[in-house]
Amino acid sequence: MRASRFFVSTLKEAPSDAEIVSHKLMMRAGMIKRLGSGIYTYMPMGLRVIRKVENIVREEMNRSGAVELLMPVVQPAELWQETGRWQKYGDELMRVKDRHGRDFIIQPTSEEVVTDIARTELRSYRKLPVNFYHIQTKFRDERRPRFGLMRGREFTMKDAYSFDRDVDGLKKSYQNMYDAYIRIFNRFGLQFRPVAADNGAIGGTASHEFHVIAATGEDAIVYCPTSDYAANMEAAEALQGDVSRAAPTQALTKTATPGKAKCEAVAELLNIPLNTTLKSIVLTVETAATKSAPASKQVWLLMLRGDHVLNEIKANKIPGLAGYRFSTEEEIVEYFGTPPGYLGPINTKRPVIVVADRTVADMHDFVCGANEVDFHFTGANWGRDLPEPMVVDIRNVVEGDQSPDGKGVLAILRGIEIGHVFQLGTAYSEAMNATFLDENGKPQPLQMGCYGIGITRILGAAIEQNFDDKGIIWPTAIAPFEVVLCPMGYDRSEAVKAETDKLYEALQAAGVDVILDDRGERPGAMFADWELIGVPHRVVVGDRGLKEGQLEYQGRRDTEATSVPLSEMVDFVK
Ligand code: ATP
Ligand code: MG
Ligand code: MG
Ligand code: MG
Repeated sequence: MRASRFFVSTLKEAPSDAEIVSHKLMMRAGMIKRLGSGIYTYMPMGLRVIRKVENIVREEMNRSGAVELLMPVVQPAELWQETGRWQKYGDELMRVKDRHGRDFIIQPTSEEVVTDIARTELRSYRKLPVNFYHIQTKFRDERRPRFGLMRGREFTMKDAYSFDRDVDGLKKSYQNMYDAYIRIFNRFGLQFRPVAADNGAIGGTASHEFHVIAATGEDAIVYCPTSDYAANMEAAEALQGDVSRAAPTQALTKTATPGKAKCEAVAELLNIPLNTTLKSIVLTVETAATKSAPASKQVWLLMLRGDHVLNEIKANKIPGLAGYRFSTEEEIVEYFGTPPGYLGPINTKRPVIVVADRTVADMHDFVCGANEVDFHFTGANWGRDLPEPMVVDIRNVVEGDQSPDGKGVLAILRGIEIGHVFQLGTAYSEAMNATFLDENGKPQPLQMGCYGIGITRILGAAIEQNFDDKGIIWPTAIAPFEVVLCPMGYDRSEAVKAETDKLYEALQAAGVDVILDDRGERPGAMFADWELIGVPHRVVVGDRGLKEGQLEYQGRRDTEATSVPLSEMVDFVK
């Protein structure tokens, strides 16, 4: 590819709505363009990354024996009514009508359609097992679309659905997908972790999530460094049986007596004396509307002891705080408008964090104010009586807890969910009457599994893990280009032009995905662009080096360039 015939469009500054580094850098590197809330155009540079992600996913899905098809984006409501999800799915489901007034949905996932295929196509045990997959546009009307491609409303997912004759078969298909996912995420070159996502409350069926480890992840994952135990927070909490400190989340969702001061209410809800020193809690608070404040869904209140928290902040790992990475106290001040340890009114639309070595009783004069509609309190004064009953949801698992396998203590990391595998069993086949005939000619319900990968979310996750102050650092496997050729004076020096063109062709012939920057930019601007875009290898061709038969090579993570003989360059970067 020649840059002059491609589309390169970089920005010095990220738009103000970009909060986390991946969103900022993708906007600055011209990878995506916002069309509406949670809706983006994939610009040429970004699309190349998406295609590379898709190719790896497709190769490994095919290798696993899964079969590709393509199910429609727009699906008739009838199928969704059969499973009850037309009602149950809630506001995330985008419902639309056609010109005849008939109901349709824009698919957030495809269990209904694939089960409809199965019930007509997979009628004999001879056709089983089969695993259908597609890579398709999804639409979910997320309550809080944010972070660019990380939580979009329109996004691309790979979703696969396996059908088996019995539970043993399902378990094999599941393991087969699990193994394929490990291969896929390894090939991306990302640091990731599979965690148990089994919901104890629903029981029975197995599920795992795959998380890219990143400080800005929206999810908390719990693991034991000295054993294999790893689970998402919900699964870890469901297992946690230590009722002496707190019961499982569900059981602790309770209502304080109205009219109490907040500190008393908290003490009542947590069932702890007022003089208890809090180590760490996260509260989810729901209140009804009052005259001065609209109904609020969530207030996060994270209280940790001073020293402990400062260390946590310095280590960039505050459990319960998503979407931001702190490295200095100044950043905290900038983010919250207050220094750590501050107790008093604040003006922020962020989750509220209180860093204090305080007892519950000390909480009485804390005033909380946040102004994001539908997300935080507005103008509520914690020091006064509670306006309405308060519901408290307690994070029940904290670092240092015993691991459920008894093999050590738990640690908590932030993760970005990039994949999810699930043993569905017969839930959909029973609801939709999808049966096959076994050897005895007897109808049996199909055993089903489903397996998702967030294709477009991978881009955000990869950047959260791989960037520096100059920009993105793509792992080679998913970089928009593997190598950028930067000639010094392509239009001025014949030697430079000739050698650059030769090298460009040789690299292409060797199967290297190379871009030649023939735009005529100055070296500084040219280097800055490709560092921002995150191309992993840069080769500079200049008259001075050519005289000695040398080119300059610099890897995106290298601090300095190295000289490489012209004749060896193709093998060097290949
Ligand atoms: P989340 O917990 O982040 O809302 P989910 O559990 O609802 O995700 P799944 O139904 O498991 O998502 O979908 C499979 C995969 O699709 C997820 O693991 C994730 O990588 C991706 N995904 C889900 N929602 C979005 C979104 N709004 N934007 C981008 N990718 C998404
Ligand atoms: Mg979701
Ligand atoms: Mg999830
Ligand atoms: Mg999921």
